[in-house]
Amino acid sequence: MTDDVADVAVVGAGAAGLTGAIAAAETLAQGGTSGRVLLLDGAKQLGAKILVSGGGRCNVTHEAITPKDFFGNRNIIRNVLAAFPVERTIAWFKSLGVDLKREPTGKLFPITDDARTVLNALLDRARGVGITVRPNHRVSEVTTSGAGFLVRHSHGVTQASRVMLATGGRSLPRTGSDGFGYRLARGFGHRVTPTVPALVPLILARSMFHSMLSGLSHDVELIALVDGREVDRRTGSLLWTHFGISGPVVMDASRFWTLATNRGAQVDLYGNFVPGRTSDELKEWFVAQAADHPRRSLARILSILVPDRLAESLCRHCSCNPQELMAQVARRDRERLLSALARFRFPIERDRGWNFAEVTAGGVPLEEINYRTMESKLVPGLYVIGELLDCDGRIGGFNFQWAWTTGWLAGQSAARSFSATKVPPRSV
Ligand SMILES: Cc1cc2nc3c(=O)[nH]c(=O)nc-3n(C[C@H](O)[C@H](O)[C@H](O)COP(=O)(O)OP(=O)(O)OC[C@H]3O[C@@H](n4cnc5c(N)ncnc54)[C@H](O)[C@@H]3O)c2cc1C
Repeated sequence: MTDDVADVAVVGAGAAGLTGAIAAAETLAQGGTSGRVLLLDGAKQLGAKILVSGGGRCNVTHEAITPKDFFGNRNIIRNVLAAFPVERTIAWFKSLGVDLKREPTGKLFPITDDARTVLNALLDRARGVGITVRPNHRVSEVTTSGAGFLVRHSHGVTQASRVMLATGGRSLPRTGSDGFGYRLARGFGHRVTPTVPALVPLILARSMFHSMLSGLSHDVELIALVDGREVDRRTGSLLWTHFGISGPVVMDASRFWTLATNRGAQVDLYGNFVPGRTSDELKEWFVAQAADHPRRSLARILSILVPDRLAESLCRHCSCNPQELMAQVARRDRERLLSALARFRFPIERDRGWNFAEVTAGGVPLEEINYRTMESKLVPGLYVIGELLDCDGRIGGFNFQWAWTTGWLAGQSAARSFSATKVPPRSV
């Protein structure tokens, strides 16, 4: 027995699902078709992740979006991004009544500095274009049925001509995105590459000095090595916390640690606390400082390069006395200190887990999706969008851009393909 019929059913009302549903409804309307678009979500309150995003301000997108800001199959990502570039995102949000402002980092936020502005605008538009929005409708199974699909959920079964899977990944599972969508995708024969937390803080060994520095942030160059080979190098702000390290540069690099650890590889994360300077340059500088200021303390000289608290902690970490006079610093102490400054190996115990990860690395392979439409190459009429796919962006609004873009492409394509065939769902 079906108790509901839809032309396009969207599973998951996050950023991607809301965009997909709106694009589908608007495209159907433009084509003169009165379409039935249904948006199902397991959560009682919609948009929890949008509301917590960007520290409650929602970093909607970034002024400059390139494939290099993402990880995954970059050729496919380039093609997908080209279909709905950032200018269109900005214009689309304006059409929803959300003006965006640019911050010095290039990140774009709503001028209200309130994520609720974004969520409300999307929900208002969804209702305005006649989408039936059903919170508290957890989907347990999607199967093909005749020319369409059966979507089983907590209140019954919906029959749909087109289905969009927009269930997100595994990050922040209390919002409803708990990875169940991978099971739905696998049910259609899709593969799912290993999923690990990305944009996630890292926990350091208890013996480390991080808790002494809690709250301190400064620039660092981070280098990730997997089985001895450099896989990533980036410079940015690191934040010391009571548990370990966080901040944009750590969050961005974390995926290399989680992915490699997950496959049992040896992964090391090194920090250069004086970005841009090599060990040799540092040594030269240090020797000159000792000659010019022999009676200054070690900590005072080091704090020219790094924050005071870090200088002190590094001295102690290297078993050096921070108050020792420069003239008296033994050569082997100097070598240890300079090596810690330029190539500090972070003793990482684990990542902070799904409850603190902003996004998922891994998912449904992009190669299994038609990048022009986001339609599954395995199952006609099925669309896969957003974080569920094997694509993750760096911090800065890139993950939402992926959600808006894939949602928009899928919504338009699903509606066009439905209008073209106009096969009404059969009753069962
Ligand atoms: C704390 C935090 C801050 C972030 N800040 C930013 C930011 O500022 N900028 C940025 O670009 N990105 C940010 N991100 C990442 C961004 O939120 C995600 O990339 C984006 O929300 C993914 O959108 P999505 O629609 O694919 O998935 P989601 O937003 O996760 O939505 C999936 C929806 O599917 C529903 N669902 C799941 N399973 C089922 C089921 N079986 N049945 C029915 N419904 C189901 C869920 O309830 C959920 O509503 C942040 C993430 C977090 C966790």
